[in-house]
Amino acid sequence: MPIHFNDRDVVSEVAGLSSALIVPCYMCPAVTVSVRENRPFIQLFKNFLKSAPYEQYIATLQSRLEEHGVTSTVFKSTPSHEWFMCMWTSGKREKLKKCAEQYDAVIVLGCDSATETVRDAIKSTGCKVVEGMEGAGTMNAQIRFHWPGNVSFENCKTVPISQQKKGQRSSG
Ligand code: SF4
Repeated sequence: MPIHFNDRDVVSEVAGLSSALIVPCYMCPAVTVSVRENRPFIQLFKNFLKSAPYEQYIATLQSRLEEHGVTSTVFKSTPSHEWFMCMWTSGKREKLKKCAEQYDAVIVLGCDSATETVRDAIKSTGCKVVEGMEGAGTMNAQIRFHWPGNVSFENCKTVPISQQKKGQRSSG
């Protein structure tokens, strides 16, 4: 199951800058937001492959940045095989580098691996990398499909990463 996240204080991290490129991973963070808001992750017939709660979360973040004088753009990831930032193609990374050159900061919505993808791709640009979320653990949940095409997660628990490490030590 995906990583579960808490939000970080992005606004204070970009204070004094004028522009930011938001780079969202469209998998674990999108699941996190849908679970947090107790809403379907995907409604195929309403938004096809977009997760409405996550799209709204990103739009709200953009509004908050705007209120503090930071204009922002969202770096899009289509087709869907590019949702997972930990597995981006070299072409996608190159595209990010070119795009990031026009911004003061890149805000990553994702895990440490997503941030590593960004850091590596834009290292020559001088852009500030800001982590918008921090991992709180691994999610344990039951995936449910509801007619006509809704995908939700129910009975969710966040399993701390430290438990995983302990388990690995005792089995090794
Ligand atoms: S980059 Fe991180 S947040 Fe995104 S899918 Fe991979 S593990 Fe999940």
